Amino acid sequence: MSAPLTLTPAERPSPEFLKGGPKKLLIGGEWVPAHSGLTIDSIDPTTEEKLVSFAAAGPEDVDLAVAAARRAFEDPAWAAITPYRRSQILLQIADAMEEHAEELATLESLDMGAPLALSRWMVSHSVEVVRHYAGWPTKIYGQTAPSEPGQFHYTVRQPLGVVAGIVGWNGPLLQATYKLGPALATGNTLIIKPAQQSPLTALRLGELLLDTDLPAGVVNVVTGDGTTAGEAIITHDGVNKVSFTGSTAVGKHILEASTSNLKHVTLELGGKSPNIVFADADLKAAAVGAAAGFATGSGQGCVAGTRIYVEESVREEFGRLLAEELSTYTLGDPFHPDTRMGPLASRQHFNRVTSYFDIAREEGAIVRHGGELADNPGLFVPATVVDNVTNDMRVAQEEIFGPVATIMSFVDEAEVLRLANDSDYGLSAGVWTSDLARAHRIAAGLEAGTVWINTYAQMSTGAVPFGGFKQSGIGREHGTDVLDAFTETKTVMIQL
Ligand code: NAP
Ligand code: MG
Repeated sequence: MSAPLTLTPAERPSPEFLKGGPKKLLIGGEWVPAHSGLTIDSIDPTTEEKLVSFAAAGPEDVDLAVAAARRAFEDPAWAAITPYRRSQILLQIADAMEEHAEELATLESLDMGAPLALSRWMVSHSVEVVRHYAGWPTKIYGQTAPSEPGQFHYTVRQPLGVVAGIVGWNGPLLQATYKLGPALATGNTLIIKPAQQSPLTALRLGELLLDTDLPAGVVNVVTGDGTTAGEAIITHDGVNKVSFTGSTAVGKHILEASTSNLKHVTLELGGKSPNIVFADADLKAAAVGAAAGFATGSGQGCVAGTRIYVEESVREEFGRLLAEELSTYTLGDPFHPDTRMGPLASRQHFNRVTSYFDIAREEGAIVRHGGELADNPGLFVPATVVDNVTNDMRVAQEEIFGPVATIMSFVDEAEVLRLANDSDYGLSAGVWTSDLARAHRIAAGLEAGTVWINTYAQMSTGAVPFGGFKQSGIGREHGTDVLDAFTETKTVMIQL
């Protein structure tokens, strides 16, 4: 196992944003410390050193944020502006993000370890997402209904009120914009709760928003840990909706907590996605796609294709091509130009991911590629393929959230559909085949919110829905579905 590529501290970036005291909470357009005075350290997973500290919000701070978001929701400065003006403000936000794209990407890579190229993609994707949503305010229609004579019935779409966007650490800015775009396009106000491992881009976004025409309090940024700040948000009766991206366990808890005031809840949760390779596929393209599918972002992606199923007749050839491709996934400092995989996002997560090497071996699986750690310290985990696996093994069922994939073979379509669907999750799936009819058959049979054919992990900037079947979530982000998720429908019936 070769050592990860490193950079000297002098070569690593040190953005202005990280200089100075602890980062504060953005509430009602003002930066304020947590009521308790408590802070949490933001850690760079590459060096495991502190970058900066940030406020650890508690219930009092959440009360203030909810009150500020409610005031902003009711204030004509936001509630009474034209749809066209909302579009303009969203475009201003996208422009501000684009202008600071390199800084945002740098902060993301420092905070959670993604290679800079990946962070740059995540930022430009986020900008496009906000621009996509900027188009919606002027196109949110109600309906006129068939009405009885002498009556007129119609519907209008109205915002829900205060929305909380709680996001994970693996795509911090991207996930935040998946909440911000639809929440603002539909006229809601928002509280963003970033993950404690990666709060920096949400905080910097908060600063950028203050330089736009967005009225104060429409977007608030509340940092802190999930069990304190997050818990105060999800149990707050002043919050009308929680839009959550994170683990299935926390998602279930949020759903339970929503009952006190019947919050609307949408959940974007975990996955254990199958990537299916038929013998008639372009095997080289399939190997490149399958490797990227689970090694990109060191496997810390909800859509990671971590269960690879290969048709028996091409198993050996595909295995060779996959190994060849994986050997290009160089570990290293996110800022080293040759790095394709950075460190995992935290020590705790590293320990959890690497524990699966032993779990797999104890279950009788064989590690074919990777599976050992580099000699030098750091949270670097190589792309790992586990063979000799059956679908009932933990390594084939549990979301590892690291660069670890299982490989299994199948003989026909019925068998692979049974294997692929034998999972609690249903976020996404990949199919590699040159047979169009087969592609449609398999897409129809897969229990997955998104099916990619001859590609993998392609993310929409807003046009098509994204979300999970089964325990991968409830509801959809993007598409037209998202408008239902961020609005109430009001029926108006008039006696003429
Ligand atoms: P997580 O532990 O569920 O955390 C997600 C967010 O929830 C964090 O901001 C966390 O805060 C917060 N949180 C934790 N406990 C909470 C509570 N009791 N009340 C309210 N909020 C709480 O997930 P993660 O480990 O960050 O992310 C990995 C998971 O996200 C994976 O399962 C992955 O598949 C999933 N994911 C899904 C999608 C999708 O779109 N479907 C996209 C990306 C990731 P703290 O971390 O600050 O404590
Ligand atoms: Mg961090």
